[in-house]
Amino acid sequence: MIDVINPATEKAFTAIPQGTTEDVDRAVENAKTALAGAWRGTTGKERAMFLRAIAEKIETEKQTLAELEVRDNGKPLPEALGDVSDAAYCFNLYATYAEDLDRRQGEIIAVPDARFETRLTYMPSGVAGLIVPWNYPLLMAAWKVAPAIAAGCTMVLKPSEFTSLTALELARIAQDAGLPKGVLNVVTGYGSEAGARLAAHPGVRKLAFTGSVATGVNVAVAAARDIKSVSLELGGKSPIIVFDDADLEQVVEWVMFGIFWNQGQVCSATSRLIVQRSLAPRLIERLVAEAAKITIGDGMGAGVLLGPLVSKPQYDKVVGYIAEGQREAKLVCGGKRPPGFDAGYFIEPTIFVDVPPQARIWKEEIFGPVLSVAAFDTEAEALHLANDTEFGLAAAVMSSDLDRAERVAGQLEAGVVWINCSQPNFLEPPWGGIKKSGVGRELGLWGLNNFLEPKQTTRYTSSEPWGWYLKP
Ligand code: NAD
Repeated sequence: MIDVINPATEKAFTAIPQGTTEDVDRAVENAKTALAGAWRGTTGKERAMFLRAIAEKIETEKQTLAELEVRDNGKPLPEALGDVSDAAYCFNLYATYAEDLDRRQGEIIAVPDARFETRLTYMPSGVAGLIVPWNYPLLMAAWKVAPAIAAGCTMVLKPSEFTSLTALELARIAQDAGLPKGVLNVVTGYGSEAGARLAAHPGVRKLAFTGSVATGVNVAVAAARDIKSVSLELGGKSPIIVFDDADLEQVVEWVMFGIFWNQGQVCSATSRLIVQRSLAPRLIERLVAEAAKITIGDGMGAGVLLGPLVSKPQYDKVVGYIAEGQREAKLVCGGKRPPGFDAGYFIEPTIFVDVPPQARIWKEEIFGPVLSVAAFDTEAEALHLANDTEFGLAAAVMSSDLDRAERVAGQLEAGVVWINCSQPNFLEPPWGGIKKSGVGRELGLWGLNNFLEPKQTTRYTSSEPWGWYLKP
């Protein structure tokens, strides 16, 4: 068993099974058996009924699920409630897409030879291996489980060893909703054992992974060995460019939300603030003043905006970056455990200014409440700073000159670009990054297509000989 620790108290409150290679093998076998059974013949409409039933149960159990997420992950309760609602929304959305899929089956593709008729149908990819991180435990699972069910796959879900409780609840909810046995299997355990076995299992045909670049490489290598289809949602170091004509209060709101929401443990967090030099002193002063007002505490506490980081390893990692950052740049606020907190993985909202582009705190994903600030003079310089990164998940620009904002947005190298905001995310558009931020897209129809294989069926409709051998 693996102890489950509440990051606000550092105390274990339950334990989860440490899944082994054999457990993963059994789960994949279950998924294969389910795929070969009645599930294969289900229509999108039938699968939509299961998806809606799961969504309804998630909504009914919203409060309990959110409280569990707070104890497991540390995030403030209102954010956890939002995650649970988004998870329910995700299941409902993919119910709609599953029904649409029935209508899309058999679509005719125009070909330039009237003697042929070409039809398009979609097959489920097969048994899917779903591997998710700890920052949005239930929601990241929903982003994969819902489209995989909609597509008609069966699956094995491996949640993070730090936050597996809501994934186990999801399995129970799916069972209560009547989802046939073997369609959704959950194996908890360490990435190095359960995760690695799932990625390498020859019975898995599709791998959908969200996590760090380093693990993404391992998953991609495992996929390559068996030529599995793979989608990767990896890390980021997203920029937010702020011009001096932007509304200052709006800037303060979005910059703070962009880095301190979920304790900065957000793949798309705008952790690099690139601000026009003329505005920099005023903006930094406001950010420092507002950061000091953020209520820090146990995610269950009223009014808490910043909870603890998820785990001891994550806390140590962020503390390490802050120590190094103090040698590379100027710390203007935060950087330590807040006073009065003897236990819990708490770190104050932290801001570094004058961060040089070669600094590790500028280049690497910290995944904590740490903002790095640099100033620019020209638009070209801002764009160069923004795009000079190995990542390409998200980017933001703020300016009251919409022509300029659109021009800059068009040149930002990222899969997701925000204008005059940062982080709002809807489930209908595609989500994902370029460069080392990943391969493929999730959400919307792109998320469904991740779990489908298109098949063309071409029929010769003429009674005339084709003419290669028998001449007409
Ligand atoms: P991680 O890579 O350490 O772990 C992710 C998952 O992979 C966990 O379930 C883990 O157990 C498993 N795993 C670990 N080693 C494995 C292996 N060898 N084979 C197979 N599976 C293995 O990431 P994390 O620390 O849990 O999450 C944080 C990272 O996730 C950040 O880099 C963040 O940017 C990224 N993330 C990206 C998105 C996105 O949409 N792009 C969303 C959320 C998080």
